[in-house]
Amino acid sequence: MILATVNHSFRYELEKLCRIFMPYEAIRFEEQIPSADEYILTHLQKGDKTTVLLSKVVIGGKEQTNSIEILNTTEDYTSECERNLAVMLYKCFVALTGYESAWGILTGVRPAKLYSKLTRNLGEPATADYFKNSLLVSDGKIGLCSTTFKSEEKITALSKPNSFSLYISIPFCPTRCSYCSFVSHSVEKAGKLVEEYLSLLKQELILTAKKAKENSLRLETIYIGGGTPTTLSDVQLEDLISCIKDNFDLSTLREFTVEAGRPDTVTAEKLGVLKNLGVDRISINPQTLNDEVLANIGRAHTVEQFFEAYKTAKQVGFKVINTDLIAGLPGDDFDSFKKTVDKIIQLDPENVTVHTLSLKRSSNMSANKLFPDKALGEEALKMVDYALKALKQAGIVPYYMYRQSKTVGNLENVGYAKEGTEGLYNIYIMDETHSVLACGASAVTKLREPNGPYIERIFNFKYPYEYISRFEEIIERKEGISHFYDKYNK
Ligand code: SF4
Repeated sequence: MILATVNHSFRYELEKLCRIFMPYEAIRFEEQIPSADEYILTHLQKGDKTTVLLSKVVIGGKEQTNSIEILNTTEDYTSECERNLAVMLYKCFVALTGYESAWGILTGVRPAKLYSKLTRNLGEPATADYFKNSLLVSDGKIGLCSTTFKSEEKITALSKPNSFSLYISIPFCPTRCSYCSFVSHSVEKAGKLVEEYLSLLKQELILTAKKAKENSLRLETIYIGGGTPTTLSDVQLEDLISCIKDNFDLSTLREFTVEAGRPDTVTAEKLGVLKNLGVDRISINPQTLNDEVLANIGRAHTVEQFFEAYKTAKQVGFKVINTDLIAGLPGDDFDSFKKTVDKIIQLDPENVTVHTLSLKRSSNMSANKLFPDKALGEEALKMVDYALKALKQAGIVPYYMYRQSKTVGNLENVGYAKEGTEGLYNIYIMDETHSVLACGASAVTKLREPNGPYIERIFNFKYPYEYISRFEEIIERKEGISHFYDKYNK
């Protein structure tokens, strides 16, 4: 498909808007009015006093056009041109497909952050009005922004200028789920790398702890994620966490999370090790409580295994357990999802995270052309709306939210928590509140200036075999932490 952007430079935003309706279509850019049979045109014509903006979609023998004229003296002229082109393009697509996104023209990852920024400048009523009438966001999603930004702000206020969080990546899983877009490797295939990986990971952790100490950083939260960290044995977990405890100053630590993730990796021994070493939050993720759907998505565990793992975690004494669910899974429907939510509520978990399925090109599922259709998008909207209503009624309320590209129905991911059990790391990483020092394959260290918004990133290699073979480069890159803080510690 051709996307023509004539006389303007809003290509990036308008391409993202097109992706709501055609997530995988190859898009070719042109800067003049196309002569092809099918195309998308966005056109800006600036005159002496006014500017004419036009958006047009010609597809499948049908076409839709919208245009508007605005004064050149319009406040925020450039961003208003961009917004109007997006709104008109969106309306063309809606007219042609009959599909409306609950997020309107908003495509960003952190809508609550935008909501919070506008609220500071304009006040909340004017912000809600702007979201509704200028960005075409639904009332439901405006409500979600309003709830989450308030709880996010309470938690970000706890961070200090020298605070940091530590992230550790264990990029191994028992098997690979069909919708997975992470770099995780199944232990069946990459099991022989695990020992060497862990040994190098410990070296990276020791160096990172040294950097944190040298720069007087204050550790707030630790998150071991993946992958599935509990793919490791109890002995490996003990060794890894002992390394963290021996090297980092934990006197200021407020939260220590490990993703137990896949129920088929959870044992009482492993959970006992985690609990004894100070881990206070874990995640056990069923994704769905429908065995057929689990089989569809290649999760090699059953619903029963999830309940067993959850019970074990309670017996071991974990006070905060998160359970992840996914709306929009292939083979799932509203009734089945509703049953999943209801059964999860009966367990009375402290945290529930409701994701919407996001399919990347790298996942097995999109390679098999199983991308769910528009009807599934509408079903997914019913699912997330139900989850919101039912969880809120049970006292488990939304506290953070983010969006990914190419989700079913263009929906969001929402973290819910009982009051006082919110996952701090989830907010810090999304909000980029403070630095995150990250270790392991695919980990990205984000360094945030102590009293300002500037952020610098240091990337580790993505895959475990690269992490191992190019480890020296990773160690060299860690010097970037000192170089960064040197600027502020003078
Ligand atoms: S458990 Fe998570 S990281 Fe592992 S394969 Fe499944 S989706 Fe990917």
